[in-house]
Amino acid sequence: MSKNVVIIGAGVAGVNAATKLIDNNFDGKITIIDMGKDPYIRPYEEVMTGFLGAGGWSDGKLTYHTAIGGQLSKYCGDDKAMELMDQVIENFKRFHPKPEAVQCSNPIEEPDFIKPYFGLRLFPVWHVGTDYLHEIGKNWYDFLVENGVEFIWETKVRDIDFDNNKVYYPEVAEMDSAELPDGLQWVYTRALEYDKLIFGAGKSGIDFGKQLAEKYELPTEPKSVQIGVRFEAPQKHFQKLIDVSYDFKLYRKFEDAGVSLRSFCTNNNAAYVAVEQTYGDHSYNGHAKKDEKYRNDMTNFGILMEINGIDEPFTWSRNVVQSVNKEGTGLYYSPSRRPSTTSEGVNVSAIQINSQELDTVREQFEGYFQYIDDFIADMKKVFPTLQHDWGIYIPEVKYLSPEPLVNYNNLSLTKYGNVHFVGDALSARGITVSGAQGIYVAEDLIK
Ligand SMILES: Cc1cc2nc3c(=O)[nH]c(=O)nc-3n(C[C@H](O)[C@H](O)[C@H](O)COP(=O)(O)OP(=O)(O)OC[C@H]3O[C@@H](n4cnc5c(N)ncnc54)[C@H](O)[C@@H]3O)c2cc1C
Repeated sequence: MSKNVVIIGAGVAGVNAATKLIDNNFDGKITIIDMGKDPYIRPYEEVMTGFLGAGGWSDGKLTYHTAIGGQLSKYCGDDKAMELMDQVIENFKRFHPKPEAVQCSNPIEEPDFIKPYFGLRLFPVWHVGTDYLHEIGKNWYDFLVENGVEFIWETKVRDIDFDNNKVYYPEVAEMDSAELPDGLQWVYTRALEYDKLIFGAGKSGIDFGKQLAEKYELPTEPKSVQIGVRFEAPQKHFQKLIDVSYDFKLYRKFEDAGVSLRSFCTNNNAAYVAVEQTYGDHSYNGHAKKDEKYRNDMTNFGILMEINGIDEPFTWSRNVVQSVNKEGTGLYYSPSRRPSTTSEGVNVSAIQINSQELDTVREQFEGYFQYIDDFIADMKKVFPTLQHDWGIYIPEVKYLSPEPLVNYNNLSLTKYGNVHFVGDALSARGITVSGAQGIYVAEDLIK
């Protein structure tokens, strides 16, 4: 058993890892370093940092399915993934002041009318309740402290020496600083040694993760391309489905081609399309307004393709995005409509193209646009009133950040076997998966 475990990040992943170690009578030392604050003093405006990390001040929705949020099953298989997620949910209940309030919302059954064209992704979600998260945090923190976990708060780790097992962070030298005029302090760089390191720095530590990946030339996991269009139509055409599932997720997969498609981020009622500027190019996204005065009775969602097997996914996506930008903005195609207005009342920036020009776009997508054409054609069958009453903003794109390559059995770096990446630092995307990855690593450490 390893004696000295250092965890960077007191987020969902790090905290679940420490809890698993303690529950198994780990007899070494556990140190957690976090740049945020403990749950007793963490202010509301510090959304990303502090005890339970981004999960601490989140919506407290614990998704409960292997197909959601990053890849967990990829590492450990579906059954193990579900078991790990169960443990995370149990932990949230265990430190909850009212565990009986934690409820699972059961998805309704997939409606017949969308079959056989689409799958509808409906997943169970456990609701912890935002209001309880602070109390859960305090109870959980007390448990860890009582069981000997040392926390180093408000301390940002600046560097890690993977070759010599050392973590570096600044520390104020209290004694020496006492001699200095007000406002001045001596700060030393402290080196903390570890036998095993768990890197759970989350989204707020993404740049630090990248910095380490570059410094140590860490091999990365091949990523997929995520590209498509933002689809928009009057809401009435989709109402039948919205009544069943408000923010529906249509889904289809072409295993042999390595392509899957999903409707992404559905907005209804007061639904607006927005320009996103990434790396200087225009792409599209959508959002909804809550206020009734913005109601436009529109629906929009991304039709996003996940394409696997493209050699340089980032470069490929950027080239496609650039090629479908014209006069400094994206494109709009519709058989009958004009681009909508934004929530500020101006037209969504886009150059409207005709069907011949859309053929050029098809070429620029190197054949993959056919999947979007088919998706729309099948939507017209499932929602018969749709016909020509829709438009697409081209392109919508998600650039996935590189993810270090890890050994699947314990999430350790392939180059440094005693350094484990967990949570959002390993593209977990979500509380349950992040916590599950933390537990998965802890299980390996106590073997
Ligand atoms: C507003 C909001 C709402 C959300 N709602 C939900 C939801 O309802 N359901 C859901 O499943 N997911 C939700 N998420 C996402 C979820 O919170 C994250 O996926 C999850 O918290 C990731 O866990 P993690 O442990 O990997 O990282 P985090 O929870 O982000 O924790 C990382 C910790 O590392 C610390 N850190 C970073 N860099 C350093 C450094 N250099 N030195 C020291 N410490 C460092 C940070 O201070 C932070 O505390 C939400 C996210 C946000 C921002």
